[in-house]
Amino acid sequence: MPIVAQLVQQYLDRIRAEHADVTDGRLADYIPELSRVDPEGFALSVSSSDGFVYESGDATVEFTIQSISKPFTYALALDRIGQCAVDARIGVEPSGEAFNVISVDEVTNMPKNPMINAGAIAAVSLVPGRTADEKFDLIQEFYSGFAGRRLEIDHQVYASEKATGSRNRAIAYMLDSFGVLDGDPDDVLDVYFRQCSFKVTSTDLARMAATLARGGINPMTGRRVTDGAVVRRTLSVMVTCGMYDAAGDWVSAVGMPAKSGVGGGIVAVLPGQLGIGVYSPLLDAKGNSVRGVRVCRSLSEQLGLHFLTVARDSRATLRAVYEPVDRIRVYEAHGDLLFCGAEQVARTVDRERDRFDVAILDVSRVDDIDDAARALLAGMSATLRAQGKDGYLVDPDAVIGTGLTAFGSVDDALAAAGR
Ligand code: GLU
Repeated sequence: MPIVAQLVQQYLDRIRAEHADVTDGRLADYIPELSRVDPEGFALSVSSSDGFVYESGDATVEFTIQSISKPFTYALALDRIGQCAVDARIGVEPSGEAFNVISVDEVTNMPKNPMINAGAIAAVSLVPGRTADEKFDLIQEFYSGFAGRRLEIDHQVYASEKATGSRNRAIAYMLDSFGVLDGDPDDVLDVYFRQCSFKVTSTDLARMAATLARGGINPMTGRRVTDGAVVRRTLSVMVTCGMYDAAGDWVSAVGMPAKSGVGGGIVAVLPGQLGIGVYSPLLDAKGNSVRGVRVCRSLSEQLGLHFLTVARDSRATLRAVYEPVDRIRVYEAHGDLLFCGAEQVARTVDRERDRFDVAILDVSRVDDIDDAARALLAGMSATLRAQGKDGYLVDPDAVIGTGLTAFGSVDDALAAAGR
């Protein structure tokens, strides 16, 4: 594993370990099959916007996607029939209600948003297809495009929910009576139950999130799954309505568009930067994974991932890379250096380490740096030394200032390197 990956891996392992002993919460049991999963399962995966994936814990364990399907089917409806047609059937207002309430807007009779069951069932009905199978095939292909592998359903969970889904039936028939459901309610429900039963891992969720983070391009396959306008609308409703009736708390504490599901998963997106997938099936009273929420909170706090953290310069972090002298490479960073930018700088240095004996990181054009980025870069120079390489820092304004030896200019650093 590359050096920087080890450092990031340590962060993620530590954050997961901080919450490993938490046993609060309960398995969802209103879908009988969900109460049979291992309550201990705990996984965290993070995908960078260029598709590099970090995994911690049970990242190969599959669980059902449940309500995390909702933003993706909504995106599919937007993608296929356009925003106007979707807006004519589903609102975008947070309801502040539980996911399974039987409610609609009092004036329009439309579901308030696509993240509660009423809106999600309406979204399924808007997916093109003459039969339930045709709709489902489109959904399966669309989700698989986000995940970068073909997703399959868990037939037991599907049958279990279908056998016990009276409340969702009530919702679908109510929508039908208001004329906001396209198609036969039982067919629509069948597709909805199937979409909730897709098996995913935390890594699938991280990749799906990273595809949203990249504006609809899957960074692993390079394939465009949907367009930027669809992603923007989808992320907007995830911000306001994604975490059941805890959306306000979530936005203030974690600050990432997200969606959770009663299967224990959470998907979270830091636009332009990264995608997160977490799994732990014990749920709080609102239906969110207890450890999942805590892990996301810690990730956001410790790595500075809140989406309203303002970086003053959104240009690429690496301004230039050059080799003034044979086997000495200079990496010149600029702008505000936060975790994701530092991770990319460190990974670039790491990838090129066979090409130099001395790496000089020039941060003289960096305006600001946060603690997570500082620690990552400090750790990088230590690991370079351990590999028999030298790492020098050019930091005339002491923005990094961690006690590392810093030089005032690249020339000073070259002189110190004996060139
Ligand atoms: N299939 C579940 C239902 O409709 C999904 C609920 C959820 O994950 O919030 O009840």
